[in-house]
Amino acid sequence: MPENYNLACVVWELTLACNLKCLHCGSTAGGKRSREITTEEALKICADLKKTGCGGVALMGGEPFLRKDLFKIGARVRELGMELSVITNGTVHGDDIFKKLKALTPRAVAVSLDAADPALHDKIRGMEGAFAKSSVFIDRCLEESLPVSVITTVHKMNILELAKLRDLLKGRGIAWQVQTAGGEGGRFSKDFLLDREEFYSVGLFIEACRREFRPEELPVIGAHDLGYNSLLLNNVSLYEKWEGCQAGTAVAGIRSNGDVLGCLSMNDDRFVEGNALETPFYEIWNRAGAFSHTRGFKKEHAGANCAGCLHLEACKGGCNEMSLMKTGALHNDPYCFCSIEKEIFAGELDSPVKKLKMRLHGLSRGNFPRLGGLFSGKRKKKK
Ligand code: SF4
Ligand code: SF4
Repeated sequence: MPENYNLACVVWELTLACNLKCLHCGSTAGGKRSREITTEEALKICADLKKTGCGGVALMGGEPFLRKDLFKIGARVRELGMELSVITNGTVHGDDIFKKLKALTPRAVAVSLDAADPALHDKIRGMEGAFAKSSVFIDRCLEESLPVSVITTVHKMNILELAKLRDLLKGRGIAWQVQTAGGEGGRFSKDFLLDREEFYSVGLFIEACRREFRPEELPVIGAHDLGYNSLLLNNVSLYEKWEGCQAGTAVAGIRSNGDVLGCLSMNDDRFVEGNALETPFYEIWNRAGAFSHTRGFKKEHAGANCAGCLHLEACKGGCNEMSLMKTGALHNDPYCFCSIEKEIFAGELDSPVKKLKMRLHGLSRGNFPRLGGLFSGKRKKKK
């Protein structure tokens, strides 16, 4: 008998079509896939997800509002008693969608905002006027008391926007999720990916925000896979405690052609477990031997970065997407805070963390908010 895995959440790419051309888009969205799930097929998948015991569905794209049946699919998700989230670029909206969205009682409506500077946001998103449209979207969600949140994807082009975004968002009842860009997308130069110091700095920034602002003023979180097992920082991510990659053990992704993967960020056909149009989702989920890269993890699978780590059993070698992107291997994430901190204290990482190190040595809960000053916009760029 296969082991029983409770499916907490499915991230569902409703379409690969998108009106924007975001530089960092991991799925290089733009045009539709040659075959995309029809409305009837989508409703059937909703029923299959319920039968699997799925707790919640996050509808995304591409841009999900380009599908006119988003509301019908969202309504079915809710009728079946599953939670609903919608992730959008916030630029495709008529005035009528906000009341319709509200009727779906979503758990979250997440909008992408990558910079407080409109010109920079538009440049990253590949459309003039994107910032203005997304800002209207956020304002209208707030007017309708929708649970709106902002997602910022950080890379070298916008890391210095974090402090300005913080100032733009604070006190407005907007939850803020900070995540880092991956290297899967075809439009994104890998030169723009954060190095380990910058990645760690994002964790410090989140921690500093959390210490400076009460959650009612600025609820800020890192993406679920942003740093973990730190000796110094509280867990900055969604999870209270990092227990390894949940792809295929608690979460799954569905592509707009029905392909099922543990994680859509691992955008590689090697990880396709089946197709929800051909095989009911619950059969794919419950198949013995499915999602073997997480369900079948053994310590011996860890790469050199993780072998021997005291966290290995629980951590399972960190985020597999990051691990693959940076090392080409699974279970070998070089961006966990645990290993970055080891290098900081061994003096192997250069500035700006060298500067931080001095402060970290004198770290106490009381003085931590001062680290927020590093993000005042005055930080020098690395040569
Ligand atoms: S070294 Fe590997 S196993 Fe240890 S905490 Fe980091 S990612 Fe996890
Ligand atoms: S591969 Fe990384 S991003 Fe994907 S589910 Fe696992 S931890 Fe999350």
